[in-house]
Amino acid sequence: MDKPPINIVWLKRDLRTQDHAPLQQAEQDGLPYLVIYLYEPTLIQYPDTSDRHLQFVYHSTQVMNTVWKSVQREVHLFYGDAIDVFGFFIEKYDLKKVFSHQETGTQITYDRDKAVAQLFKKYKIDWLESPTNGVVRGITNRDGWDKQWYATMYSKPIQNTYNLPEPELLGHDFLLPFSFLKRIKDYSDLYQPAGEVNGWKYLRSFTQRRGFNYHRFISKPTQSRSSCGRVSPFLTWGNLSIRQVYQYVKDHPNFRSNKRAFMGFLDRLKWHCHFIQKFEVECAYETHCINRGYELLERTLNEDFITAWKTGTTGFPLIDACMRCVIATGWINFRMRAMLVSFLCHHLFQDWRSGVYHLAQQFLDYEPGIHYPQFQMQAGTTGVNTIRMYNPTKQAQDHDPEGVYIRKWIPELRNIPQQYIHEPWKMTLLEQGFAGIEIGKDYPKPIIDLKKSGRIAREAIWGHRKNKVVQQEKQRILDTHTRRGQFS
Ligand SMILES: Cc1cc2nc3c(=O)[nH]c(=O)nc-3n(C[C@H](O)[C@H](O)[C@H](O)COP(=O)(O)OP(=O)(O)OC[C@H]3O[C@@H](n4cnc5c(N)ncnc54)[C@H](O)[C@@H]3O)c2cc1C
Repeated sequence: MDKPPINIVWLKRDLRTQDHAPLQQAEQDGLPYLVIYLYEPTLIQYPDTSDRHLQFVYHSTQVMNTVWKSVQREVHLFYGDAIDVFGFFIEKYDLKKVFSHQETGTQITYDRDKAVAQLFKKYKIDWLESPTNGVVRGITNRDGWDKQWYATMYSKPIQNTYNLPEPELLGHDFLLPFSFLKRIKDYSDLYQPAGEVNGWKYLRSFTQRRGFNYHRFISKPTQSRSSCGRVSPFLTWGNLSIRQVYQYVKDHPNFRSNKRAFMGFLDRLKWHCHFIQKFEVECAYETHCINRGYELLERTLNEDFITAWKTGTTGFPLIDACMRCVIATGWINFRMRAMLVSFLCHHLFQDWRSGVYHLAQQFLDYEPGIHYPQFQMQAGTTGVNTIRMYNPTKQAQDHDPEGVYIRKWIPELRNIPQQYIHEPWKMTLLEQGFAGIEIGKDYPKPIIDLKKSGRIAREAIWGHRKNKVVQQEKQRILDTHTRRGQFS
């Protein structure tokens, strides 16, 4: 019997129904097509991945299904590695074309894509990949990049329509195992709700009110939770395209009266693509110091330090509050992310690789193309950026002066008098008794001497900037990854 001819739309980090080039191309092609998402065991086991990512994806696809109800279309979920799932389609169907977005992922997803491309080539299947947001494939420097980015952002978003029927999905061996399904259906109330409908809600509330003080509160751990856009998970998993968000904010009636705040937000949408572009060109950001000269800076592994950092038990209240908060909710603001990395890599003087996957797992918005370059920037291993060492006590005094955030995330410190909230170790035993806490037992003593460790790190890291390899690498990085005159 003849195999039924079909096309496939392979969803990756583009879980939305509008402004979606692959879905538009599939409709225009005219052949019945299936829309699939693959839960790939090889990727799920990779240390950057955690259940919250898988859950966000699952709930995003369920929202797509709801939006698509009237057009009788759905996302079909598979549990299997791409090669095996596409093997099934090749065996049972006359698979003509596969449409997807280009993915700027880690080496493991890049290798997967190469293997899939080979399979498609063997069976003469066309794989049409569309650019993702403003990221450009195949460039070796940034000449003309900014201009192209704006051209993309100002072009008309795709208005997807759905007319073609879905072909029948034949029986297969890649159903989601029951226990896995249960695992990904679960969802903490403390995470942002997934899916494009929720993404639009966040965007609306940002422009209607939340974002008016965007620039004032961006560094505050408490206020930023409502004043920031909070669109990052929706962008990471493609519930919203950058172009949709850009145009929505730029064209909003409140833009003119909130220009400073909204422009600050729009600039960051460009940073989003700018960072992913770095990773697109050099995905070794995940595993190697991007400035190879920093591989020569020796650090002594201290497992106890790393465990204390990961579990929010370092004895420094703001560090611990941030870590506990991100574990519980999946989000902290930029400044606090930077501070956590700086503390690990500077004050604790640990290799950035000892913490990079831990935070990737916690961030609901984990985006490889932003995460690794940002992590290295904050760890001071690029050689081109100013090295920032955040003093966690000063950060706490500046950005959480009354300790509201600290008290919320470290219940042990709830009853500490105001004057000690940032330095509880300074309380006398008598004062500890009055506050009902014993420092060293109920809450840890600081695991390091901040002043001493800051001085040692500064000498080592600042001193290393003159290293010959660091200097050579610096020029290469500037030529490849930066826009002229800009060092980020
Ligand atoms: C160590 C470290 C790791 C990070 N890892 C990630 C990550 O995995 N995923 C991620 O989306 N962001 C990451 N960021 C950047 C930034 O912290 C988040 O984008 C931001 O906190 C998301 O919240 P928001 O949507 O409210 O941002 P807003 O301030 O409202 O900004 C709007 C959007 O602009 C983009 N953006 C904002 N700040 C940055 C930035 N500094 N660099 C690049 N893009 C930016 C994001 O897409 C964000 O959603 C990281 C920062 C650091 C220091």
